[in-house]
Amino acid sequence: MTRLVAERLSIRIGGRRIVDGVDLSADAGEFIGLIGPNGAGKSTLLRALAGLIRPASGRVLLNGAHVLELDPRELARRRSYLPQQRELAWSYSVEAVVALGRFAYGAPRRLEGADRAAVDRALAAVGLHGFKDRDAFTLSGGETARMHLARALAAEAPLLFADEPTSSLDIRHQIEIMHIMSEAAEAGGLVLAAIHDLALAARFCSRLIVVDRGRIVADGLPDGTLSAERLASVFAVEEDGRSYRLSP
Ligand code: ADP
Ligand code: MG
Repeated sequence: MTRLVAERLSIRIGGRRIVDGVDLSADAGEFIGLIGPNGAGKSTLLRALAGLIRPASGRVLLNGAHVLELDPRELARRRSYLPQQRELAWSYSVEAVVALGRFAYGAPRRLEGADRAAVDRALAAVGLHGFKDRDAFTLSGGETARMHLARALAAEAPLLFADEPTSSLDIRHQIEIMHIMSEAAEAGGLVLAAIHDLALAARFCSRLIVVDRGRIVADGLPDGTLSAERLASVFAVEEDGRSYRLSP
C-alpha cells in the first residue's frame, strides 16, 4: 500500500519561501487535485513530493522511507512524474518516448516482455496505439500531451505525480486524461495532479488540495473545498450567476 507523507515541508528559492510549512498525507486509492493560482507553488510542491528537489526544511516520506534517500531506480519504480514542461531534445518514435518510462526496470535496448507489454498498455490507455512508429515531433499538441502521460504510465508505478496533464487538451481529451488518472487511483494507485480546470477537478478527484502562496489553504472533499468564499480569496474571482467575474 502506498502512503505519502510530507511533514513541515518548506522550499526556498533565491531567498523566497516558495513552499511554506506543508503537511499532508495521502494514501493509495486517492486521486488528489492540486489547485491554486499560477505561481502558488504547485509545481514546486509536486517536485519536492516526487523527491526531485531538496527542501530547506521538513521531509517527504514514501512508505516510511525518506524520498531523497531512495536509490534513483527504486524511487523511479515507486513513483512516476509527468513534468509541466515536456520537451524532447531530439527526434524519437512515439514508442521510444513511452519506453523511456521503463527506466526503472533497466532502460531496455530492445523492447521485449514486460517492458513491451507495459508500453503497449500505456499507449492503449491514452488512445495512441496506432502511433507507435510516428516521429514524436509530428504529433499534435493533444497527442503530444497524451504521449507524455503514456510515458509516465508505462512505469506502472503505484504513485503518479502529474503537473497539469490536461493543459492544452480539448475538453474531450481532458476528460479522457481525468478518467485514466481516476481509474489508476481506483485500481489502487495514488495520483496527485495539478489541475487548472476547477470543474473537472471537482468532478473527477476524490480530494482537492488548494495551494495559495506556498501554503495549503484547504484540503478535503471537492464539495466543501471549492466554496465561493475560497474561490474569491484564492483566485480573486467571484461567482456571478453561472459565470465568474474578477474581484475588485
Ligand atoms: P505554480 O506551479 O503553482 O504555478 P511554481 O511552483 O511553478 O508555481 O512557482 C512558484 C513560485 O516560485 C513562482 O513565483 C516561481 O516564479 C518561483 N520559482 C519556481 N521555481 C523557481 C526557480 N527555479 N527559480 C526562481 N523562482 C522559481
Ligand atoms: Mg506549475
